[in-house]
Amino acid sequence: MRIYNFSAGPAVLPLPVLEKAAAELVEYGDAGMSVAEMSHRSKAYDDIHTAAVELLRELMNVPSNYKILFLQGGASMQFAQIPMNLKKNGKADFVITGEWSNRAYKEASGILDARIAASSEDIKFARIPEIKDISPDADYLHICTNNTITGTRFTEIPDTGKIPLVADMSSGILSEVFDVSKFGLIYAGTQKNIGPAGMAVVIIREDLINNDNKLPVFLQYKSHADANSLYNTPPTYTIYMVKLCLEWLKSQGGVPGIQKINEAKAKILYDYLDSSALFRGIADKAHRSLMNVPFTTGDDEKDKQFVKEASAAGFANLGGHRLVGGLRASIYNAMPTEGVQALVDFMKKFESR
Ligand SMILES: *Cc1c(COP(=O)(O)O)cnc(C)c1O
Repeated sequence: MRIYNFSAGPAVLPLPVLEKAAAELVEYGDAGMSVAEMSHRSKAYDDIHTAAVELLRELMNVPSNYKILFLQGGASMQFAQIPMNLKKNGKADFVITGEWSNRAYKEASGILDARIAASSEDIKFARIPEIKDISPDADYLHICTNNTITGTRFTEIPDTGKIPLVADMSSGILSEVFDVSKFGLIYAGTQKNIGPAGMAVVIIREDLINNDNKLPVFLQYKSHADANSLYNTPPTYTIYMVKLCLEWLKSQGGVPGIQKINEAKAKILYDYLDSSALFRGIADKAHRSLMNVPFTTGDDEKDKQFVKEASAAGFANLGGHRLVGGLRASIYNAMPTEGVQALVDFMKKFESR
């Protein structure tokens, strides 16, 4: 029996996608073999690969002067690969809005002169700080648009003028409409809102693809851009699953369609948290995430009791991140509205008891 999975990642996938993958697992079309067994140079795989790239371009309205790359090493690899590839003046600015942006900053610090342009650490990352001064000679400014652990998101994308804006969108990509042209580079691990684990998607403006650096070939964006992400063997089965997930997303009305669903879905949970005498949300109302909803009873023991009882009732992975504790429901695109409604009904029963 499938249960409601509120994991922050790897996370819930759409049921129709899993069913289609199951039906095609042993033999894909008339290929006589599974996608997992195919050469990455075969025609059948190439069609899947191309369709995945083109669907993502269509769904996010990615302008033609941007390349879409499928890279291994997850989002964490990008914490290093971005400063390596975008380094020119040797300076970059970071907005610290939680654990992940902090990690991006720390990793970059070993590669270039990384500077904190704004931080909300003093208020435990409860909201997005105002960005007041950007270094005029920064190679880029880095933000994390959705903060998976503390449950905040940029409700407005900052205008950085000529400085390229780089965004970690791991937990928010495809959940709401973004104007890609405002960014120099967007990256996201696939395992939150794109598909299964196994790679990161990088959307990069062509002028940022450096031509003359001394990096190992595999770490250069150019190697992967020139080879359409087939420089070496890519995670073929993950890419196949990503294609199925993107097809599913298209059937939901694309990103504008799912955004409406996500807003209504998150509202069910936030409205309850705002009215509950037992539970309360943690993030500031102005910057609440649509994807990750941290909350608490304010009492450690009670939080633990809730996780235990919820898990027994078929609501999995509601414990908060190990760094912050409390509770958290991740409600990515693939979490059905019924799942959130059922969770709220369960929370109401728990509260009345
Ligand atoms: C999960 C997550 C990461 C780390 O992703 P990996 O693919 O495991 O490296 C980075 N940034 C954000 C915002 C995340 O949610």
